[in-house]
This record gives sequence, structure tokens and C-alpha cells, in this order.
Amino acid sequence: MKKITVVGIGPGAYELMTKKAADALAGADVIVGYHVYVNLVKAYFPNKKVLTTPMTQEIERCRMAFEEAEKGQCVAMVCGGDAGVYGMSGLILQLGPEYPQVEVEMVSGVTAAIGGAAVLGAPLIHDFSVISLSDLLTPWEKIAKRILLAAEADFVLVLYNPSSKKRLDYLRKACDLILEHRTPQTVCGLVENIGRDGERAQVLPLGELRDTSVNMFTTVFIGNSQTREIDGKMVTPRGYGV
Ligand code: SAH
Repeated sequence: MKKITVVGIGPGAYELMTKKAADALAGADVIVGYHVYVNLVKAYFPNKKVLTTPMTQEIERCRMAFEEAEKGQCVAMVCGGDAGVYGMSGLILQLGPEYPQVEVEMVSGVTAAIGGAAVLGAPLIHDFSVISLSDLLTPWEKIAKRILLAAEADFVLVLYNPSSKKRLDYLRKACDLILEHRTPQTVCGLVENIGRDGERAQVLPLGELRDTSVNMFTTVFIGNSQTREIDGKMVTPRGYGV
């Protein structure tokens, strides 16, 4: 059988990988992925053929996976977090019709929003909206509109890709848009390196978050109008009346 399993490996720690994901990797002949993710899992699954491509070569990476599968290899394509959240599963399915003999299966993983929420407390108890600040594949105008409307609708916001070398001021730009609808005291949080060495979390007001520098291994949480800090944890109440 010719098959690619697209595997979300979770935020980083082996313990945060689902059993199904670990089983898929154990059963694979070849592991394909971006080198950061492949390196995270390589130690646990030795003796596998490993194929990587650089960050911007996602299409090549997917084609490589299909070509290996066509040779009869059992292929696992790894992504950080969940493969269906800013990951590779969409592209794999888009290219799938070009490789009709290859079956594709997805294995879900713990995405950064969920992994980070558990570190911060309970910020996502109510409706939330996930937005990536990367304008590599999405025009900034569209990102800005989504931020503004989500802020106006009082969603908790989770911001992925909050910064990169070329986009140092994007978190500030996003906070300024949110401040059109929320107060500077709004409870926010950030988590760096979720489930990896150097994991670090901070709960802070929106006004302060605006002037905080973050990196590409950070996920940012903006509370809604009801979100509170309780004993250092970020908590969004859900109307139980306590
Ligand atoms: N598929 C991934 C997201 C890829 S986009 C997932 O489901 O989690 C990359 C962004 O995800 C990063 O810029 C960061 O905002 C977030 N992210 C992914 N893994 C993370 C981790 N271990 N710690 C903190 N943020 C992470």
C-alpha cells in the first residue's frame, strides 16, 4: 500500500505527542519534514530514513513525500503541533490528486494554542479565534481586518507567528488594532517554547504586551473583556457566576 501519514507531533515534548502519532512514526520507513521538527523526533525513532527541506520549500517537501510513497515506502510527514493548523496537511491534500495511487491519512496533534493554554491556566474556556501574524502567504490587510473584527466580537485571540526577523513590530501593530476595542488592562499571556527546553510563560496586561518583544517560538494570548488573572494564571470565566 502506498501511503503518507501526516503527523502532528505536538509542541515538542515527547509526552505531548499522541500515541497514534508515535505509532505512525514508529511504523514509518521514511520521516519527511522541516528540519526543526524532524530533529525533535529523530532521537525517539532511530534507524529511519530522514528527508528534510528548508522552511520556504513546502511544495518540494510534499512532493518528496509523495515520491517516496510511490516507491512503496511508508512515509510519515511530520509537522509541529497539529498538521492542520498552519501545517502541511492542506498542501498534501491539494497535491494528492496528482498522485492517485497514494493514500493519505492525518493524525491530529496538540496545537500551540492548546499546549500553551494549559501552561497559562485556562484562557480558552470561551470562544476564541486563532490568527497568524505572518504575511508571507496572507496579505496584511486581511490579517488586520480579522484581528479588528475578532477584537470587536470579544473573542479571546491566539496569535501564531507573532514575530520574525523581518516582522519585528507586528505584535505591536496587532496590539494597537486590538486596543481599538479593548482596554490596556486586558489580561494577556505569552508562552515561549511550549513543551521544549526553555519553556517560559508570562501573564501581562495588553498595554505592556504591546511593548514586549517576542520571537517565532512564542504563542500570544489576548484575553476577552472578562478574562482575569487568578494567582498568576490566565483565566477566562464562562458565566458560572462564581
Ligand atoms: N502547526 C503548528 C503551528 C505552526 S505556525 C501548531 O499547530 O502548533 C508556527 C507558530 O506556531 C510559531 O510562530 C508559534 O507562534 C507557534 N508555535 C508552534 N510551536 C510552538 C511551541 N512549541 N511553543 C510556542 N509557540 C509555538
